[in-house]
Amino acid sequence: MPSIIAHIDMNSYFASVEQQANPLLRGKPVGVVAYLGDNGCIIASSKEAKSFGIKTGCSVARAKQIHPGVVFVENEPAKYIATTQRIVEIFAQYTDALEQYSIDESFLDFTGYVKNFDEAARLVTHIRARIKNEVGEWLTCSAGIATTRWLAKFASDFAKSDSQLVLQAKEDRLRIFDQCDLVDAWGIGDAMKQRLNALGIFTLRQLHDYAPTNLQRTLGKPGYYLWAHLNGIEIEGVASSSRPPKSIGHTYCIPYQTHDTDYLGSILYKLVCKATKRLRALDMEAGAVTAGYALVRGGGLHVSKKLSHHVVTADEIYRYASQLFFSQPIKEKVRMVAVSVSSLRGISNQGSLFAPPRDRDLARALDKLSARYGDTVVYKGRLWHTKDQAQDRIGYRKLK
Ligand SMILES: [Mg+2]
Repeated sequence: MPSIIAHIDMNSYFASVEQQANPLLRGKPVGVVAYLGDNGCIIASSKEAKSFGIKTGCSVARAKQIHPGVVFVENEPAKYIATTQRIVEIFAQYTDALEQYSIDESFLDFTGYVKNFDEAARLVTHIRARIKNEVGEWLTCSAGIATTRWLAKFASDFAKSDSQLVLQAKEDRLRIFDQCDLVDAWGIGDAMKQRLNALGIFTLRQLHDYAPTNLQRTLGKPGYYLWAHLNGIEIEGVASSSRPPKSIGHTYCIPYQTHDTDYLGSILYKLVCKATKRLRALDMEAGAVTAGYALVRGGGLHVSKKLSHHVVTADEIYRYASQLFFSQPIKEKVRMVAVSVSSLRGISNQGSLFAPPRDRDLARALDKLSARYGDTVVYKGRLWHTKDQAQDRIGYRKLK
């Protein structure tokens, strides 16, 4: 018996929640922003805004140019989290194998809970109706139902807003592959697309038919995984308890666009502090650091470094992140700063030769203080000017 897995993805989530909360916003192009002001970035746009071409990442100024009637709403994470909780409570009534993948996406493993795909499809229709009836009439979702976790997400990505798609038979899968580009497949970005093109692979069907051993040899494990995903072979399965993240990162569209290295360094340090706090909360340490920025005029820098040892404190990580960030002189105005840590693993008890244990203990003590009294109770001098900046907000990526 094949597995029966559903992926449910809320449509234009933050914007829809705002429209649900305020009926005056319904039917209007809405941009949910990190903060109001022309330099702000849209972190979610309503389906009406999307129809004008206003997408996530678009600046407020640019969105106004595209369509002067866009309504901007400052994001309110508590509202989205509370709404998600109500949605997930509905999901949990139908399966224990539930993976909340991000604030607006969940995987539900129905294997053993339903007899067949028809029953699964009816159940998903019912769940989608319950979300509208019980959580909010304006909340729509796309759902995919398939034999693996990856194919379920592929199906929901392909399904239009407020609809669902079952992908069970191989022929159905191939038919949909023929209507998609390589980059429409979950996990294929521009870089991977180029590597596949170099192998003579230009379509998902070609990738599906390619010899997996050749893919493994040239692209390594990720190459094999892509082939397996397309061929309906389960790689990950639904993680019913939340799985640890592969990377932790923060990006921030800065309100004062500048090339001032002191200011950029302070923002970078603040983002590092946020990332390392999450890292310690998960009891993990990082073996690689990535840092970068985007320039106002377009372009920017994005560089990674694999470390010879694992690190966990902000000062250690900032040392590497700032080396990467300032590896080239910044001559133009920066609009976005980004940092992330990856190659994560559980903290080893043997300690590190590089970071004295007292530094790690100090970091933990500060975490406890800020958890109890707020982030601004004790902080490094260099964060003095960044108090109001890069405050907690919520992204569409995986939950903590
Ligand atoms: Mg979504």
